[in-house]
Amino acid sequence: MNHSTSQELFQRALQVIPGGVNSPVRAFRAVGGSPVFIKSARGAYIFDEDGNRYIELINSWGPMILGHAHPVVQEAIVRAVEDSFSFGAPTRKEIEMAELICSMVPSVEKVRMVNSGTEACMSAIRVARGYTGRNKIIKFEGCYHGHGDSFLIAAGSGAVTMGTPDSPGVTQGVANDTLIAPYNNLAAVEALIEANPDQIAAIIVEPVVGNMGCVLPQKGFLEGLRTLCDKHGIVYIFDEVMTGFRLSQGGAQKIFNICPDITTMGKIIGGGLPVGAYGGKKEIMDCVSPAGKVYQAGTLSGNPIAMSAGIATLRYLNEHPEIYEQVNQHTRQITEGIRKALKNNGLNFTINEMGSMYSLFFTEKPVTDFESAKTSDTAMFAFYFREMLARGVYLAPSQFESLFVSAALSEADLQHIEQAHAEVLAMVAERMAVVHK
Ligand SMILES: *Cc1c(COP(=O)(O)O)cnc(C)c1O
Repeated sequence: MNHSTSQELFQRALQVIPGGVNSPVRAFRAVGGSPVFIKSARGAYIFDEDGNRYIELINSWGPMILGHAHPVVQEAIVRAVEDSFSFGAPTRKEIEMAELICSMVPSVEKVRMVNSGTEACMSAIRVARGYTGRNKIIKFEGCYHGHGDSFLIAAGSGAVTMGTPDSPGVTQGVANDTLIAPYNNLAAVEALIEANPDQIAAIIVEPVVGNMGCVLPQKGFLEGLRTLCDKHGIVYIFDEVMTGFRLSQGGAQKIFNICPDITTMGKIIGGGLPVGAYGGKKEIMDCVSPAGKVYQAGTLSGNPIAMSAGIATLRYLNEHPEIYEQVNQHTRQITEGIRKALKNNGLNFTINEMGSMYSLFFTEKPVTDFESAKTSDTAMFAFYFREMLARGVYLAPSQFESLFVSAALSEADLQHIEQAHAEVLAMVAERMAVVHK
């Protein structure tokens, strides 16, 4: 596979864009080599600048659940463009979008549109703080809620300590207000609450994690958090930026039957355009300006083109529940193929999956939190990634990401993925044997 144009473009990009990319994981640092520059995509396929075709298993990190350039969404965008691109004034489409979200996501009574998942999560904790009059939040190690300062915090030493900044530019002051617990560890959360009585404004959690690879909540974890939040007057925030409209029409909360106080959304909600949203209980959302005193604004929020793409995508999902059966079936078929290849080659790696999200972890340990995710052999993952890419399968360029399966895959695509896994995992087994000699 020739990548010479991508390589040239990357050299050019490095001159004028930090690291050559506008979002770090795109740089392929975790897997080596230079990133593939994309020219176009349609359905299940993405095409690079050298004319190579790949089967898509990232789908823009989730949004393209219907596949690329779905005709229904495309038509909605084209029609919207004819009426100009931005007004900075209210539109009918924003109401349609809000009504659609409130009807689909069980816990959402009122919703505010923003432009990214990051903005949604930043705003959600501000509202939680305004509503409770408290400062601290609890987040989980390995969960990602965008690049807001409050979320770029690493676990301190020991479960009951405050966090430390995970990035230069984040102040210790901000870090002091973010407490970190291991995922799936209710006891650690209880300890944090006890050590900080009446100080916790919010607990924010990915109900199914995508951002340390796919990690599932253990039985009772999400329910236990709900109970703790109720007991201590804490705002319970589900970050459904990944899981929203993906695990079901009503997201993870519908599947687990849990009613969070605030839900953050992104990715699928924009159908590929930059959209985020946060919504929840009326009483809490009415704290947001101009209904209430918590300030949050956006020049391009509720942008008409973005709303059109989002509405078309959500309506389509609403009217075609069979999409979920399709993407889930595709995912099962892919992971079955991986399991078969693992078994045939005497490998015992961990697969986590739910709905149309899955990860193959290069570790034999069960992966239930960030510590266990980190036992993965990332060098071996990098090898696997590059060999899959060479066989025309486009995976996330990091061990610590979930894959996102679309409805556009054909039976032939699924067989191609299975064949690629059979070949590549045999090579992995060979390399493991050499390493362990
Ligand atoms: C992607 C993601 C975000 C951030 O969304 P952006 O649109 O990239 O700012 C927040 N939370 C979760 C769970 C995500 O997966």
